[in-house]
Amino acid sequence: MVKGFKNASELDFTILSNKEAMLQAFAQVDEEKGQEYPLIIGGRRVMTDEKITSIAPATREVVGKVSSCSKELADKAIRSAHEAFKTWSKVPVEERICCVRRLVELMHRERYILDAWSVEESGKNWGEADGELCEALDFFNSYIMHTRELDKGLELVDSEEATKCVYTPIGVGVAIPPWNFPLSLLAGMAIAAVITGNTVVCKPSSDTPIVAYKFVELCERAGFPAGVISFIPGSGSVIGDFIVQHPLTRFVNFTGSKVVGLRINKMAAEVSEGQRWIKRVVAEMGGKNAIIVDSSADLKRAASGIANSAFSFQGQKCSACSRAIVMSDVYDEFVDEIVACAEELKKQQGSGRDNLPMGPVINKAAFESITGYIEIAGKEGNIVSGGKYDDSEGFYIEPTVVRDITRGARIANEEIFGPVLAVIKAESFDEALEIANDTEYGLTGSVYTEDRTNIQKAKTDFHVGNLYFNRKSTGAVVLQHPFGGFNMSGTDAKTGTRDYLTNFLNLKSVCEDL
Ligand code: GLU
Repeated sequence: MVKGFKNASELDFTILSNKEAMLQAFAQVDEEKGQEYPLIIGGRRVMTDEKITSIAPATREVVGKVSSCSKELADKAIRSAHEAFKTWSKVPVEERICCVRRLVELMHRERYILDAWSVEESGKNWGEADGELCEALDFFNSYIMHTRELDKGLELVDSEEATKCVYTPIGVGVAIPPWNFPLSLLAGMAIAAVITGNTVVCKPSSDTPIVAYKFVELCERAGFPAGVISFIPGSGSVIGDFIVQHPLTRFVNFTGSKVVGLRINKMAAEVSEGQRWIKRVVAEMGGKNAIIVDSSADLKRAASGIANSAFSFQGQKCSACSRAIVMSDVYDEFVDEIVACAEELKKQQGSGRDNLPMGPVINKAAFESITGYIEIAGKEGNIVSGGKYDDSEGFYIEPTVVRDITRGARIANEEIFGPVLAVIKAESFDEALEIANDTEYGLTGSVYTEDRTNIQKAKTDFHVGNLYFNRKSTGAVVLQHPFGGFNMSGTDAKTGTRDYLTNFLNLKSVCEDL
C-alpha cells in the first residue's frame, strides 16, 4: 500500500463556476490563436523561418505556428542539455523536488487554460483534457515520492567497510511524446528525467506542439534552470533520427507507433562516433487490445465498458479496445447492446469544445487511414453501426461496429487507432483467450465475466501489461494501474512507478576500507 500519495481529482464541469472558467479559457485561446512560437534551447527563445502549423482537428483552423528545429539547432539543444547536466546532476534532490512542487502549483493555477489548449489542439473533450492534466499531476507527485525513496540508495548488508550503493543520474535524455496525450505524456517523460537529475530535450508531436510549448514555459516559471528542459519541435526526418543518434544522447523516451519505436530502438543501439555508453530506450508503442465477453457476463455492462474503451477520444488511445471477443451463445445479444451504445454516441458527435463524447480524429492522414480501414471492414465483415465519415469541417468519423470479423482479418490484426471495433466470435473461453493473445502486441486487455474460473485463467493466461476485469481497458490511473505493455507494445515501462525512474539512473557502489 502506498502511503502519503493521493491521486488528483478531475474537475466537475457540471459546477457552473468550473464551466464558466473553462469558457473563459477558450476565449483566451481564441485571442491567442494563430500566434507564432519559438524553440527553447538552453533557456533562449529561437524563432526559425520554417514553421510547423498546428491545426484544430475539430475545425481545421490554424491554432498557431511553432518554429521548426533544424539539425544545427537540435545539436545546440543537446549540447546545452549536456552542459546543464554538469550542474543540474549535482543539485540536491530536495531542490530539484522544489522545482517540481512549484510546477504542481503552476499547473493548478493554469489548469483551465492548459485544458482549453489541449481541447483545441488535440480535439479531446473537457473531461479527457482534465483527466490528462490530473495524470500529469499524479506523475509529478509520484515521482517526488519515489525520488526521495531512491535518494536513500540500496539497502546493503553490514560489513566492516563503509559501503553504500547510490542512484546517480545518467545524462541527456530525448523525450518524444505522442499527440494523443500531449500534456501528460510529455510532462511525465520530462519530469521523470529531470527530477532524477538528468536533462532533457523535448521533441513534441507536430500535431500538438503548442500544448507542449505551454508546458515547457511553465517549467521555466517553476524554476528549472536554462538547458535542463529544452523544446525543439521538428520533423522526424530532419531531427528525429539526428537526436536519437547524437553521441551525447544518453537515453530516449518515446511513445508512439510501433514502426517509429522499433526504428528508434535500432538507431539507438548503433554506437555513434564519440559515444561512450549504451543508450537506453524506453518505448511505449501500439496495441491491438481485446476485451473478452463470456457467457456469464452482464452484457449491458460489457457493452457500455467496451464502447467507452473503443470510442472515447475516438479510439485514439494505445489502450483502446479494438477487438471485442464474444462467446457465440451471447454474440448476437451483445452485438445488439454494443450497437445501441454506438448509436447513442453517434448522436453526440461534435467538437471537443462543445464537450461532446465523440470528437474529431487528429488530422487528415489519420482520417484517411481510419476511413480506409472502414472500407476494408465493410468487406471483411458487416458494419452494423456507424461507418460514415465527413471531413468537410473537421475530421469526423462515426463510432463504427463491425460484426462477423474472423481472427485472420486485417481489421482483427492491424492497429487502426480510430473509432472502429471488430466483434469476433469465440466458441469457448479458451478459444477467446487464444484469439486475444494472437497478436504481436500486449498492452491492455479486459474480461467481462462473472465466472471465477475464467477470471483465474485470464489472470495467468491473458498476456498483457494491463489486465482489467469487468471494466474498461482505458484510463489507467497513476499508481492504481501502472501502465505499460508487453511484446511489440513496448518496454513495459510502467509509468508513475519507482521502477520507471530507475530507467534514468545508474547505481553506483561506493566502498571505503576503514
Ligand atoms: N494511459 C492511457 C490509458 O490508460 C493510454 C496512454 C496512451 O494512449 O498512450 O488509457
